[in-house]
Amino acid sequence: MKIYLVFLLLFVLITDNEALGRTKNRVPPGPIPAHPSDGVPVTPPSAIFLSTEAPSKVKTFPWTMKKEPSIRVKAGRRIHKLPLESYVTGVIGNEMGKNWPREALKAQSVAARSYALARMMKAGRRARYDVVASQADQVFRARDVKNEYLAGIVAETRGEILWADGAVVEAYYSSTCGGKTRSAQNAGLDPDSPLTCSITDASCKISPFRSWAFRLSLAAIENKMNKAGLGVVGLRKISAQKKDASGYVISVYYQDSSGGYTITGAGLRNILGSMTLKSLRFRILQQKDGMVLFSGNGFGHGVGLCQYGAKSMALKKGAYQSILKKYYRNTQMVKAYE
Ligand SMILES: [Zn+2]
Repeated sequence: MKIYLVFLLLFVLITDNEALGRTKNRVPPGPIPAHPSDGVPVTPPSAIFLSTEAPSKVKTFPWTMKKEPSIRVKAGRRIHKLPLESYVTGVIGNEMGKNWPREALKAQSVAARSYALARMMKAGRRARYDVVASQADQVFRARDVKNEYLAGIVAETRGEILWADGAVVEAYYSSTCGGKTRSAQNAGLDPDSPLTCSITDASCKISPFRSWAFRLSLAAIENKMNKAGLGVVGLRKISAQKKDASGYVISVYYQDSSGGYTITGAGLRNILGSMTLKSLRFRILQQKDGMVLFSGNGFGHGVGLCQYGAKSMALKKGAYQSILKKYYRNTQMVKAYE
C-alpha cells in the first residue's frame, strides 16, 4: 500500500504541469496586494535629460543617446537593423489599424518606441537582436516602414518615450481591458514595472471585444486539458476560483474522477487558446445540459494602454498625451533624442 502511495505521489509530481500552474487541492498564489490607483505628480523631464550624469539606477543609454539609435529586429531568419523611428513606423499600423484616429496612433507610437527602447537596453549590445517582429514583442512589417502617412504620424512624436523610476518604461499595451486595466505585477510581467496601477476604463465600450461568450462541453474541455498534458479523467466540474482585485481570474478549480485540482487562469487561457478565452476577465457557468459557458470582457493581458480605449478617446478629440497619461500612470513622457 505504501509503495502504491509513493508511486501515486510520483505520478502526481511528474504529471504536474508547471507551465499551467496546476496544484492539487491548493491555490498557488497568496492574496494579491492591492495596488495604489493614484499617480504621482509629474515633474518636468528636462532636468533629467539635461543632466550629464546618469542616475544610479540606470545604465548610460538614454544619456549617451546623441542621436536616434538603431534597433535589431528578428523577422524569421533575417535580422533587420534599422533606425528606431523607422521600426516604430513599421509597428503602429500592425498593432492598431492603419485607419485608426491619429491621436490613438500617436499614443501607440510612444508606447511602441518606449517598449522597444526598454527591450534594447535589456538586450545589450552583444545580443544578436533586440526584439522579434511578432506578437512576442511587437508586430513589425518591413514594408510599412515606407508608408509616408504612418511615418508622418510617428514623426509627430519623434524620440518621445515613457519614463519612470529612472528608467525607460517597458510600455505594455493590449487590445481591450474590458473595463479595468491590470497591474504588470498581477499579470506576471516584469515585477519591477512601474505599471502598478489598475484603472477603471469605460472608454473601451466601443471595442468588439468588450464582451464575449462561448460554450464548450466538459468533454471538449477535458480533451483540450489532456492535449496540454494534464491527464484529466472524467472532468465533472470547473469554476473560476480566485480573482484579483481588478477582476482577472488568478486560479481555476476543476474536479475529475481522481479529485480536485487548481490551475492558474493563465494556464487555462493557454489550454483553451488566447483567441478563444480572450482575456482573464471571465466567468464560468456550468449549465444543466452539461455545457460550460465562458463569458468575459476584454482582449489581451490588460496591462498599460487599452488600444480601443485610446481609439475612443481619440474619437472624442483626446490628445495622445492625455491618452498616455490615463493608461500609464506613475510615468512621464520625455524626449530621448532630437
Ligand atoms: Zn479599456
